[in-house]
Amino acid sequence: MRTVNHIIPTHTVLEGGGFKVRRPVAMGRLMSPFLLLDEMGPADYGPGEAIGAPWHPHRGFETVTYMLAGQMQHEDSAGNKGDLGPGDVQWMTAGRGIIHSEEPHIDFQENGGRMHGFQIWINLPAKHKMMEPRYQEIPAENSPTTEKDGVWVRVVAGECLGLQSSIDTKVRIEYIHAKMDVNSTLEKEIDESLNAMIYVFGGEIIVQNKTVKDGELALLSEGERIVIQSNVSSEFLILAGPELNEPIARHGPFVMNTREEIQQAFFDYQNGTFTN
Ligand code: FE
Repeated sequence: MRTVNHIIPTHTVLEGGGFKVRRPVAMGRLMSPFLLLDEMGPADYGPGEAIGAPWHPHRGFETVTYMLAGQMQHEDSAGNKGDLGPGDVQWMTAGRGIIHSEEPHIDFQENGGRMHGFQIWINLPAKHKMMEPRYQEIPAENSPTTEKDGVWVRVVAGECLGLQSSIDTKVRIEYIHAKMDVNSTLEKEIDESLNAMIYVFGGEIIVQNKTVKDGELALLSEGERIVIQSNVSSEFLILAGPELNEPIARHGPFVMNTREEIQQAFFDYQNGTFTN
């Protein structure tokens, strides 16, 4: 049985053009292979107020965006374009290099509304860092969800309550969004070889006698399964992935293995050869 090893609190920081995100206070390496977890909002914007992240590069890892409310629009140097609304997932594998913009949708920009979502950075192992960029978009209607005994889940990646995600990931990832009613229980098997963590963003849950509250990230011990008890209504993400066991060299939007590779990324970006 997996237990809570460590609880990381969150703080609020400004990201992109200045929008608020709630982020665990452990920049750089959360728990392999996860580098960063940003909860965007929830924030209410008036007409013309919404802010995004204008054109910027990424290399060496994946960005996974999952929207709960609001509308984003995405465009990148590989020619991908997409709108992201509630329940939609965008799985972008930057690989050797991608330059993209992540902005509020033009309609959302005009009318305002509530924006809420997640962006998670997942590291790539050395052998995949310079792969061709890959873009997967899973609209809400193709995203498997189910409800059983007061527990609702969406399987963004991996498996839960007998449902399987169609996302193809370079390393094995479990990414589950769950909502639990008062006095419900969720059991999930997680392969022993994977690291696992839970981020709570509504209510609180109990994992083997340890309470994890709203805005806390719980890093879990090794084990074969998690049992989550909820005495109130709660909402959270379960994330799991392998220990990559490789050195991390990171600067801003580049995550490589060595300093030389970071310098190369800057060089390529400045010389316009980044996405070649
Ligand atoms: Fe980005």
